[in-house]
Amino acid sequence: MTEKIYDLAIIGAGAAALSAGIYAGRSMLDTIIIEKDKIGGQTVTTSTIANYPGVKDATGPALIEEMREQAEIFGCEFTTKEIVETKLVDDVKVLVDKNGQEIKAYAVIVATGTSRNKIGFPGEIEYTGRGIAYCSTCDGELFTGMDVFVLGGGFAAAEESVYLTRYAKKVHMIIREPDFTCAPATANLAKEHPNIEITYNTEVKEISGDGVLQKAVFVNNETGEESVFEASEEDGSFGMFVFAGSSPNTKLVKEQLELDGRGFVPTNDNMETNIEGVYAAGDLRVKELRQIVTATSDGAIAATKAQQYVEKLKEKLGIEVTVIAKPKETKKAQPKEVKKETSNQNTSGGWFPDAMKEQLKGIFGKLTKSVTLLHVLDASNPKSVELASFAKEFSSLSDKMIYRSVDKGEDVALEESIQLTRMPSLAILNENDEFTGIKFSGIPSGHELNSLVLAVYNVGSQGQEIDAAVKERIEQLKVNKIEICVSLTCHLCPDVVAACQRIASINHNVTAEMIDTSLFPELKKEKKIMSVPAMIINGEKVVFGSKNMDEILAELEN
Ligand SMILES: Cc1cc2nc3c(=O)[nH]c(=O)nc-3n(C[C@H](O)[C@H](O)[C@H](O)COP(=O)(O)OP(=O)(O)OC[C@H]3O[C@@H](n4cnc5c(N)ncnc54)[C@H](O)[C@@H]3O)c2cc1C
Repeated sequence: MTEKIYDLAIIGAGAAALSAGIYAGRSMLDTIIIEKDKIGGQTVTTSTIANYPGVKDATGPALIEEMREQAEIFGCEFTTKEIVETKLVDDVKVLVDKNGQEIKAYAVIVATGTSRNKIGFPGEIEYTGRGIAYCSTCDGELFTGMDVFVLGGGFAAAEESVYLTRYAKKVHMIIREPDFTCAPATANLAKEHPNIEITYNTEVKEISGDGVLQKAVFVNNETGEESVFEASEEDGSFGMFVFAGSSPNTKLVKEQLELDGRGFVPTNDNMETNIEGVYAAGDLRVKELRQIVTATSDGAIAATKAQQYVEKLKEKLGIEVTVIAKPKETKKAQPKEVKKETSNQNTSGGWFPDAMKEQLKGIFGKLTKSVTLLHVLDASNPKSVELASFAKEFSSLSDKMIYRSVDKGEDVALEESIQLTRMPSLAILNENDEFTGIKFSGIPSGHELNSLVLAVYNVGSQGQEIDAAVKERIEQLKVNKIEICVSLTCHLCPDVVAACQRIASINHNVTAEMIDTSLFPELKKEKKIMSVPAMIINGEKVVFGSKNMDEILAELEN
């Protein structure tokens, strides 16, 4: 069997990479996009995008979903791997992932973007997840009715401050410089907002608290004067969102590509680096304006140049240049992310717009076994009643799905069998009517609809493909209870929920329960959870942040 060599490998799947994928796919390059985390990069952490031409107002995840779909339509292949080593100088470039597996290609576009900086004040690491946060769409909701500080004066700080006013009692911006460092129009959104208070020339000296953030000491960097903010007794804590710039993700290429003093990649106008056939696109480049529009422009140029390079290289190597027609619509074996969020505002008056229903019916057409959605109904709990309406409508999308409702207290043995401890709750039973360990405490709408769809798919069919070695690790797990605290606006949460529930669907000693944190304030308080996703393992260890299957298994094996 000959070894596969792609025409083009793109490292990263942010805006730059997806744009490169669209252009490369359209030029018929056999292209693979390699992403270590979630597709979309920094753009999916952005609450509102109002400055991308042609898109007046969109959320970051919605804009990225359109780009991803477009790249997929043009035939790009996607894979989830972290590239840790690159061999770029030869005609055939080699990318090596964390597990030592290689991907080969004639041309490479490095589009690994940047990672958010930590500031480094005492307490910043210790209180991450306990008051310190970096993603407003994920964690903003957890600070509803509380004071929220935003550290930074750039684009992201200004925009996210405005977003956070929808939850916070008051947003306090702390800016190190004498003014904002972003465009005046963006700064004015914050300056003119009645619920944002701005303090300039100020930095955090230290923070402290009793398990959660309760006190911050600030210092004026001109006068040296200190000020203290303490959480009110009623709130018990407050939030602090850090937007302190970012550093390039160029470690994987630093031995081969020329970098500037700060680690960014210099290129010419064609996105060419110092190595032939290797291009850089997006925020990791040396440039003035790091925005989605410049990232997508870089990606388009890099892919166009890569196409010309690959054609010439193939001629030189005597490889026949064949134009392979790409499928206009890729048929995926796995269910893909459900596009739009659920809403009550739709044509038929239910939870799911008509277009989404059609999309879901397509996915559920692959079910081969029945799946029961068991709901213990508490008629006195409005959320439980809401969950009934949601689950009923959801299960009507396939004749393989059964909605079953029992009143609270009606069947105690059944409640025990699904380990019912909190409500509203929806348990997933398999074709033999056995509890699968998969539960949703809350209404799995918003981003969590994807978790529910995957849970049903995995229980009602062969399920998503899984590597034999990963399956073996899952089967050997000793952990038996994973509770995943989420917010419905968190785009990072469904991946963690879906991975944990995939684990439960394979190892029947494991339960994996999605918990909408906003509905269970006691749990939030007891476990001091102020950032999501947060996994509570066996009721004790709390692990914060986005994690892939490999990282989750490593946590569970510990
Ligand atoms: C909070 C916030 C708000 C913003 N608001 C706006 C806005 O309103 N408008 C606007 O235009 N811009 C905005 N920006 C900036 C914009 O998001 C970036 O300019 C843009 O995302 C850059 O895209 P990129 O593809 O270069 O990099 P990224 O988005 O950083 O994507 C890089 C991708 O590469 C992956 N990766 C990294 N290393 C590896 C590896 N070794 N192997 C595999 N994959 C890897 C990462 O996981 C990531 O998915 C905002 C940024 C932030 C943080």
